[in-house]
Amino acid sequence: MNFDNIYTQIGHNLEKIDGGRETLMRFSKCSGNSQRISFVLGLELVRASFHEPLHLAKQEFLNYSKSEIQSTSHRVEGDVYYQKKLNWKAICFYNRSLLVGKDESLALTYANRSAVFYDTADWLHSLRDIQLSLDHGYPKHLECKLRERQGDCWLELGQFNQALISFNLARDLLMTLSTLQQKDKLGDLVLKLKQTKNKQKKAKKCGLPDNDKISSIKSIEQEIIKKRRSAPELHRARNPLLPSASASVELINTPDRGRCLVATEDIKIGETVIVEKAHASILQYEFKESHCHHCLHWTPGPVPCHKCSQVGFCSTQCRDEAWDSYHQFECGLTDFLCRTTRDVNTGQHGLLALRTVLKADRRLIIIANEQEKSPESFASQVFDSANYDTVHRLVDNSSQRSTTDIFRRAVMAVYLTSLIQIRDGKDRPDEVLATAVLRLLHSYPCNAHEISHMAIPVPSGFCAQSKSLQLQQIQSCEIGSAAFPVVSLMNHSCNPNVVHLCYGDVMVVKVIHRIARGEEILDNYGYHYATHEKRERQLKLCQQYYFRCRCQSCVEDWPLYRDTPKLTSRPDIADRITKEINNFKKLSCCYPEGSSQREEAARLFIGHLDAMESDPSINLPVQEYNKAQEGLKLCLALLATLSPHLVF
Ligand SMILES: [Zn+2]
Ligand SMILES: [Zn+2]
Ligand SMILES: [Zn+2]
Repeated sequence: MNFDNIYTQIGHNLEKIDGGRETLMRFSKCSGNSQRISFVLGLELVRASFHEPLHLAKQEFLNYSKSEIQSTSHRVEGDVYYQKKLNWKAICFYNRSLLVGKDESLALTYANRSAVFYDTADWLHSLRDIQLSLDHGYPKHLECKLRERQGDCWLELGQFNQALISFNLARDLLMTLSTLQQKDKLGDLVLKLKQTKNKQKKAKKCGLPDNDKISSIKSIEQEIIKKRRSAPELHRARNPLLPSASASVELINTPDRGRCLVATEDIKIGETVIVEKAHASILQYEFKESHCHHCLHWTPGPVPCHKCSQVGFCSTQCRDEAWDSYHQFECGLTDFLCRTTRDVNTGQHGLLALRTVLKADRRLIIIANEQEKSPESFASQVFDSANYDTVHRLVDNSSQRSTTDIFRRAVMAVYLTSLIQIRDGKDRPDEVLATAVLRLLHSYPCNAHEISHMAIPVPSGFCAQSKSLQLQQIQSCEIGSAAFPVVSLMNHSCNPNVVHLCYGDVMVVKVIHRIARGEEILDNYGYHYATHEKRERQLKLCQQYYFRCRCQSCVEDWPLYRDTPKLTSRPDIADRITKEINNFKKLSCCYPEGSSQREEAARLFIGHLDAMESDPSINLPVQEYNKAQEGLKLCLALLATLSPHLVF
């Protein structure tokens, strides 16, 4: 039962009473979100419509638990694929087994998954899983094999002391057993110990220090995170008043354009001007088996929540952070919340609003609710994305909405807040939280961003070493959405001078068109002059964002890409761009290689854009400029995120 069904029911009931007019008329008299929430809470017909979905959610919440049987069945299926050497598919089933597993089942599956990681030369994930398996009580009589694998992994990483400890443990465990193979195996281990000691000596002679920094789960996970593509640094020092942006950008208030970001100096193409961590983010349901619920990074080996079987994390660190911050309130309700808002207009924004509020300190929410300040009064303060207050005071546009629209949002705010309070067994939702959710439900449609990652569809039988994939197969996937208060300060242009890219839940803004000192930093809200007709752009921007665009391409009515003139005055540049686009298309996209080729391609595209902008004989728009800019955008997106996306 999703929110649309519930709201339709409410609509029918209102219709029966007074055609809905009287109630909506009284609702329109409410001043402020707090009064709107109280009004909705006072409507008996709303409470009655919530009765059934809340009951269903409660049943699901009370009955959610781990299942040893399911976990074993997924693990057995994973074993079958592992034996067939279908590693990706095996990992997939082990991941499912771990989500629902507990105690010994967890220990066994972690151990099996560590074998797949070992076979794919992913030593760090293998080591992490071995440690987790041991922590969950892997059976003592089987531990010898696991310790030997642990030693092998340490050896691959050049951590000889750790390897010796593991091999010694394996040998001691083996000696307590009395099986037929024991003698052979013991010989193997003694040999391994000897070889390891020799390797250690050799390394010492060559002056290589024994790399023993990694040992605990936390330190192994730190190494895994280091290997991930992390967001680039800002090109200049931070702006102290706008900590997510560089000092080449400042926030100003103008009478005609409101709050906006402008350049404090000339900014070159390719420079990074904003690096902002999401204030709050949500992962789409479809990606829960492949991406971290907390940081949204792709992960080959998720770690499940301790309690529920609905979420997985890239690391124990993300799991613990999520629990302390918001998951303790959502645990056991995550799937229901996703289902009830799926394919529902503003459903994603509702979930994001709820997550934002659950993360915040209640005292700060109370202050923010009471003040409902106008954005202008904050202009001189620090605009920090990490503060709840920053998100609460984003432009909310509620004055532009119809009463029916606001009423629907208020009902959604009450509904979502009621769902979350099932945990506490309360019948009436917390009005403070519902008021804040409503405030964000007004502002998020104009301020929240979707999080997209580039993904390679990988057939389940695919073996990473065996073949390369072509650029054409890469797709951009929307994996979630998030609140980025600083990124959302940028106004729109149909011919933007920046592009934004996602590194997990961190958004990076890079310059794709030279920006002169004093010029505004301009993003694109999804309607580019080269792909959408002017009339369509103006209409959509007005409906969704309540403004009329007056960018250069709108004022001069630039043609669509197909009607844009070609660069005839500089055939040399035109030829080189065409050649490089063709070369770029041929690049192998095999995960995770190819970064240096893409970096080189990005540099070439930047060079061409610069050359065209410096040439006074070239008047934009020209097709070649678009081509080079699109090439650069694709390079940057692929450098940011490229993860395998398993297709069955
Ligand atoms: Zn994570
Ligand atoms: Zn949970
Ligand atoms: Zn425009």
